[in-house]
Amino acid sequence: MKPRTLLPLLLLVVVGGVIYQRHGRRVPPPSPEAATAALEEAAAHPERPTAVEPLIEALRAELNIHRKLIVLFADEARLKGSAREAALHLGHQLHHDDRAMVFQLDNALVALTAKPSPERDPVVVALLAWMERDPELLELDRLALRDPLRILQHGLAKDHSAEGLVLKGRIAKDLAEVDRIETLVEAEYRQVFGGPGVTAKGGERGLWNDYVKALKQLQPKTVGEAPPTRAEGGGEIGGREFPVKVLVLSFDDGPHRIYTEEILAILQRYHAPALFFEVGRNLGSVNASGAVKLGPLSILTEDLVKSGYIVGNHSYTHAQLSKETGKPLDIEIGETDQLLKSIPGAHSQLFRFPYGARTPLQLQALQAYHLRSVLWNIDSLDWADPVPSSVADRVLRTVAEEKRGIILFHDIHDRAGKVLPGLLERLRAKGYRFAGLDASGGLVLPEGP
Ligand SMILES: [Zn+2]
Repeated sequence: MKPRTLLPLLLLVVVGGVIYQRHGRRVPPPSPEAATAALEEAAAHPERPTAVEPLIEALRAELNIHRKLIVLFADEARLKGSAREAALHLGHQLHHDDRAMVFQLDNALVALTAKPSPERDPVVVALLAWMERDPELLELDRLALRDPLRILQHGLAKDHSAEGLVLKGRIAKDLAEVDRIETLVEAEYRQVFGGPGVTAKGGERGLWNDYVKALKQLQPKTVGEAPPTRAEGGGEIGGREFPVKVLVLSFDDGPHRIYTEEILAILQRYHAPALFFEVGRNLGSVNASGAVKLGPLSILTEDLVKSGYIVGNHSYTHAQLSKETGKPLDIEIGETDQLLKSIPGAHSQLFRFPYGARTPLQLQALQAYHLRSVLWNIDSLDWADPVPSSVADRVLRTVAEEKRGIILFHDIHDRAGKVLPGLLERLRAKGYRFAGLDASGGLVLPEGP
């Protein structure tokens, strides 16, 4: 590299380091609401120089939720009945707070990568410096950094300048470090519990248990409240009514700028049908006079439909709809309905309540839109568990108990894509068939035995 290109790069590292040092203080992470508000404020003023602080604060808030979810489900094997329901309820609430923030954070990271290099680079460097060396981070915490790193990598993909290449090289190294840690945790899991081609040796998940122990010391376990009473509405599709050995795959919360396409490619490779429940705000917006404006991610939904996949409505903001009535409820259902109608072929009668949270009142509201509620009976917990093998085993265990039904995944993390090929192969080998639903909710069985 010529000295002339080296000097700005050196300056960049120094400036980035200074920004990072300025931030290097020990304060509790902000609440997800505060982190979201700071990101929204920054997004409302694109003319101001990009500040790294709201981004780091959002990452810290996200990490805090990631840690809480791990502690919450750490003793999953012992969670039974109402204790399990309570943990799931609390987990869903934590996840809900996280989703709104991650939505803003992803948009902020994409906006950052689109800025001119002199403004962009010191901020990206400061962010990476935080991810690489903040003393607050435990080694296994890095599993929570994959998604923001992938978003940065994706945003910089088309930048082939010297500065862009340096940033991308550093991100690739950081991602390799995340992979290294995941491989260690995976290998340890497989050694204890076994898996395809691996005999279980039993014993302890040393690395993982040490991590959970450290997290428990950092934050005492939060106890979940009793969940709201579940409605048992007529006409809902739940999965337990399916014939034995018939499974339907479903992916919620997308479309996502990276993972939706990855999952689509896997499903096509395995000729597996699936449902995608989309969050309206990912697709675009509807203004006060009812005009629909589709955003850039709506093209991904169009691709799903063109590839023959059925898409459903998952509310506009991923709200907990059991708490909503009247106009706000109508907006959550109706705006996504309108957005899906404006994407050719994307509209169906399928609706999934975020967290399955609904009462007879919300089920009634669906009728005005001729929508049917689709639930699930096999929860992969891929939103709470960063270890792919553990996610896969949970699905296999629950399928063995339920023997049929609807599997819940999310296309907003890399985990579903990681476990999908192995699960499809193993479940088909056990005689399970993967079915789809048609646009009105009828079960579409695959051909063959
Ligand atoms: Zn969801």
